Amino acid sequence: MITKTVTIQLYEPSQTKSGLLLLVMNRYAKALQYLLDRCRPAVEDIHSLGTLPTQYELMRLLDKDALASLNVFEMQPFKDSLKLDFAMLIGSFLSLSHTRRTSYPLVYTDDEDIGEIFSSASPVIAKAISTLSKYRSPRTLLFGRYDTNRDFCLLRDELSGRYYAKIYLFPASSNLRRTYTESKRLALKYIAEDASYLETRKQRERYLIFPIACGKKQADLLDEAAKDPRNFRTARLFCRSGKFYLAICIAQDTPSVKKPRTLLGFARGYDCPLHLSLTGFDDTFAKSFRLTEPQSPCDETARLHIWANTIIGIARENESQILYEGLARRTDLLRTPMPAGRHTSASMTSQGKIASLTVADYKKLCRIIPYKAAEAGLPKPIPISSSRLYQTCPSCGHCSGSNRFLPGLMICTKCGYSADSNVVGSLNLTRRFENYRKQRVLFTCRAQGHGVCIENLVLNLRFFVRSSFRMEDDFCAQLEKHLEESVPREKPFPYDPAMGRQKYGLLRKLRASDPLSDGIEIVGLPCRNSKVVSQYFSEAKP
Ligand SMILES: [Zn+2]
Repeated sequence: MITKTVTIQLYEPSQTKSGLLLLVMNRYAKALQYLLDRCRPAVEDIHSLGTLPTQYELMRLLDKDALASLNVFEMQPFKDSLKLDFAMLIGSFLSLSHTRRTSYPLVYTDDEDIGEIFSSASPVIAKAISTLSKYRSPRTLLFGRYDTNRDFCLLRDELSGRYYAKIYLFPASSNLRRTYTESKRLALKYIAEDASYLETRKQRERYLIFPIACGKKQADLLDEAAKDPRNFRTARLFCRSGKFYLAICIAQDTPSVKKPRTLLGFARGYDCPLHLSLTGFDDTFAKSFRLTEPQSPCDETARLHIWANTIIGIARENESQILYEGLARRTDLLRTPMPAGRHTSASMTSQGKIASLTVADYKKLCRIIPYKAAEAGLPKPIPISSSRLYQTCPSCGHCSGSNRFLPGLMICTKCGYSADSNVVGSLNLTRRFENYRKQRVLFTCRAQGHGVCIENLVLNLRFFVRSSFRMEDDFCAQLEKHLEESVPREKPFPYDPAMGRQKYGLLRKLRASDPLSDGIEIVGLPCRNSKVVSQYFSEAKP
């Protein structure tokens, strides 16, 4: 299951409706800022402990009193959204502040804050700028569920086929509620499991209804999703240059994933933005692709999407497992022809050459690829260590700084292999993955009583296996049972620093091995392969 976001525009809302939307967005920001200020001491305590609480734990910082005080802002319909928004803001603040200096989240400032800044004898410029930038700034509204009686839902006019959005904005006590009469000439039917018509009542309602403007593509997506309204999940309402948009999350079934036949690595190129290498699972080098800047001028995001679509297209055609650089740190040591001066425009040209993609853009691209791959029915892309990626020889694996001594050409100082520098990164990705796949988790044996003790010291695992022809199978069964209990495959397995990199890596390897016997090697087992032994015995019989 993946989620897709459809962004639709609220079609020309009247001045009153626009005003109401802005008012609620402002109140929402104000309420959120109130929660942030209120919990600041508690958050700072957590910060000083250096731990990272879960989203649920963060939400629990907001006690009953805090939530009750939100009624002042008339935020009853948005209590859950505010809790979630709060937890996400604090969560990212805490995780970011581990690695860099981060200021406490600020979403809304008012006259009082501005006055404070300008009345101070020596105002801090950075603080003044952030205070001004958030001055009475409306905040995106989050609607947590699709429901005909709360949050948000869609309606369709049976006469014109046009979509309408029904958005709950006010609590029952609010005097902003309005009577809804415009629909007299419409036949608005809910997009819901039990599709009924919208009732026009003579009372003031807690919601507003907006016609929706959307293009052909978006309309198709809505039509498709409307077939099963359970697919509609959450929505965000935001304002850009005076226009209001609703971004709706829609769940989509993913096509079933086929077993890949090839490997496709994509890495930053040396004098082109990106370079792709396609290899077979047996190390056979098939093809390489050089991606260049898009022909027609486009913005930053569109450019990344064009490349992402090309990568997915190639992967689909060749049924590939996609591999990418896990650029946690800048360790791939790619030294590209950099332009003179501190020029950092989208396409950096130097002496007629187009330089590689920046690390930041590459990371953005890596975030786009996984969901596009899921949509295309491709297996989940795998990040590969980027450590010294461009200094390693793809042929023999020799890794040295002297491997790269001609610009644009890599020559291995050990085996003499030479290749275009562009190819090196992406080809090494596929090679590294292939090597990793071939590596086994080693277990050693020692005799003990009427059997052997099979162990791995890093994993701190020890199993006793009785002497028989099926020792390897017995061991695998015991190990499988242990994995099932300690690190079940169906659950996510995030890195835990207390475990250490080495142990984590081995456990991941074991989890990924299917069958388990493919991922392990037992050194010194008397009867290594039970099949061979039993075959031998059956042949030895007269
Ligand atoms: Zn070499």
